[in-house]
Amino acid sequence: MNKNSTNIMALAPKSSNKRDTVCIFGTGDFGRALGHKLIQSGYPVVFGSRSTQTSSLIPKGAEVMSHAEAAQKAAIIFIAIQRQHYNFLTSLAEILHGKVLVDISNNSKINEYPESNAEYLAQLVPGAKVVKAFNTVSAWALQSGTLDASRQVFVCGDDMAAKQLVMDIVRILGLTPLDQGSLLAAREIENYPLQLFPMWKFPILLSLGLTTFFFFYCLALDVIYPYVYQKKDFSFFIAITIPNKICPILALILLGLVYLPGVLAAIIQLYRGTKYRRFPDWLDKWMLCRKQLGLVALAFASVHVLYTLVIPIRSYVRWRTSDRIISQIQNNRTEPLNTTNAWLSDSYLALGILGFFLFVLLGITSLPSVSNNVNWREFRFVQSKLGYLTLILCTAHTLVYGGKWFLVPSSYKWYLPPVYMFSLIIPCSVLVVKFVLIFPCLDKPLTRIRQGWERNPQYSE
Ligand code: NAP
Repeated sequence: MNKNSTNIMALAPKSSNKRDTVCIFGTGDFGRALGHKLIQSGYPVVFGSRSTQTSSLIPKGAEVMSHAEAAQKAAIIFIAIQRQHYNFLTSLAEILHGKVLVDISNNSKINEYPESNAEYLAQLVPGAKVVKAFNTVSAWALQSGTLDASRQVFVCGDDMAAKQLVMDIVRILGLTPLDQGSLLAAREIENYPLQLFPMWKFPILLSLGLTTFFFFYCLALDVIYPYVYQKKDFSFFIAITIPNKICPILALILLGLVYLPGVLAAIIQLYRGTKYRRFPDWLDKWMLCRKQLGLVALAFASVHVLYTLVIPIRSYVRWRTSDRIISQIQNNRTEPLNTTNAWLSDSYLALGILGFFLFVLLGITSLPSVSNNVNWREFRFVQSKLGYLTLILCTAHTLVYGGKWFLVPSSYKWYLPPVYMFSLIIPCSVLVVKFVLIFPCLDKPLTRIRQGWERNPQYSE
């Protein structure tokens, strides 16, 4: 048995409560927070520092000494120092030989260096066993114990025993280790804390683009057009009327976009006759952000509901209602109840309410706390079957509301179609294609392809 494996064996979890000394290089924010947590968990801690003077900031019970002295006291060393200061470690190469070095460093930019910090550390100290861990945990959360949202610690390394050792410490600290494989994974792990809502970028940029387009479209047709041709000032429409048109339109388009990639994927799989060929990159990325697209759609739908609730108290609406009543009185003529209109109005409201209810249900089931408690089949049932039902109800809600306007020539101001027409293009296309895909002549081969069958097997014997 060589010296290195003895070091590791010595640190393996024991049945007694006595734990082996752990060394931390660097007495900065992270080093101190980690030291504090390790001491709480029963580990003797030594700090390796440029200054051996102890201060009140150093966790009670820890010793501070030179890097060389501290390294000799432990088989595992956490490097709580920024990458740009790693050079001095080469002078300690002999002492660090066979030790487990835990690289916890992060960068300030994604892919800042050609190699990951952990690989760089392994190059600087080739005799050491480098493990990447803890970089996604913040010093503040570690010290204050508020780790509910970030209990996971991503761990990777080439030496299995060294990695196991670090994972044991992670568990003893009350955290959950996630083995990410070899040190090659370090680059990706180092990029995690730098990512800013990666899955939200596309849905948010798309919604911003569509909101801008529809805002100017509605502004032109609802405010500028009546001003130009009738000298009427409807500029106040900007506050409620226009947003209350944009919100449902965007909610429906984005909901359609949640289901469109699934339909496209089905067409591609049917065309190729196999599921074993990768989808184009854009489709893969689109599929990955469907949940975010759905949640943005739900946000628009919720705002639409709120806007709709205030309609009766709007000054313009109250004026229009009283104006109509007064003109009926003046003309001594009561407008009879139009049952068709009453049906249309009640139907579109009912479809909207049911659609919104299912939309909220979809949003709730996409929350990790809920989705973790249902099995895969239940999750698919809700997201696919109930999802399509939501799309049908919301599309019908818009069709019943806007349908009659599509046939009226006066709705085509400046030869432009009514804005609601745009919202129906994607959902209607998705629903039509989905309907066609249900036919057994397409559904059967698609199901077989998804179960692994290939029309022209690539690797046939
Ligand atoms: P910090 O507060 O700036 O501390 C860094 C420590 O490195 C210093 O206290 C110093 O310790 C040592 N150091 C500085 N210059 C040095 C040099 N030229 N040679 C040798 N040692 C030097 O930084 P930190 O926030 O603790 O972060 C440390 C590492 O942890 C970084 O790589 C960071 O990316 C990573 N990290 C930090 C957090 C966090 O929340 N802070 C979270 C995850 C990962 P001595 O004075 O004792 O020598």
